[in-house]
Amino acid sequence: MNPHHHLHESTLMSYAAGALPAPLSIVAGAHLEHCPQCRQRLRDAEAIGSVLLEQTQPASAEGDARRSALREAMLAQLASESPVGLPMVASVPQRERPEADPDHLPVSLHPYFGASLAALRWRWMAPGVHCIRAEQMPSLIMLKIAPGKCLPMHSHGRSELTQILRGSYNDALGLFAPGDVADLDEEVEHQPVTAPGVPCICVSALDAPLVFSGWLARKIQRFVKL
Ligand SMILES: [Zn+2]
Repeated sequence: MNPHHHLHESTLMSYAAGALPAPLSIVAGAHLEHCPQCRQRLRDAEAIGSVLLEQTQPASAEGDARRSALREAMLAQLASESPVGLPMVASVPQRERPEADPDHLPVSLHPYFGASLAALRWRWMAPGVHCIRAEQMPSLIMLKIAPGKCLPMHSHGRSELTQILRGSYNDALGLFAPGDVADLDEEVEHQPVTAPGVPCICVSALDAPLVFSGWLARKIQRFVKL
């Protein structure tokens, strides 16, 4: 899995600070599990956060020297790293890795959806669309969209984070395939179209209700209560 669409810098900084709303942080965790590049960016964000925290401490000669050394080490580390890190699990044989199992769901989703894709109990939501809403967290939702399906044009009240698990879709931002995350804010209005062949399965966290354009789409919205 080699993702092409990643978490925004601001999402990573909020995640590192523990300030991301829970549903978004669960989906971000699902992306991080399969994205060595974002794991590296998260470590950098944590390093920057710890330097900023140090800078808010009362000044002393010893503290100044330590902060300066820490900052230098961090900048040297950032300068020396290639943009794409190696997966942490690269050396483990495939059969020993649960995520190599095609049915395996990301670990951050297990408390809400279980561990197995095959065991999911889908509910009909709209023609060509099935879903499962996390019981304890209504704004966390798993979606299965039929191949070749065009979803209504919609934008987002605040932010939406969607991790693609199987299949793929296209929208104005490009092709989103397994491992990719769509990190969208309220500015984005999009109309995903799933690829032919296999259903697109993704997990989405919404920070606010979707806003559909057009009277038909608004009718659907009332019907599906998204
Ligand atoms: Zn990533």
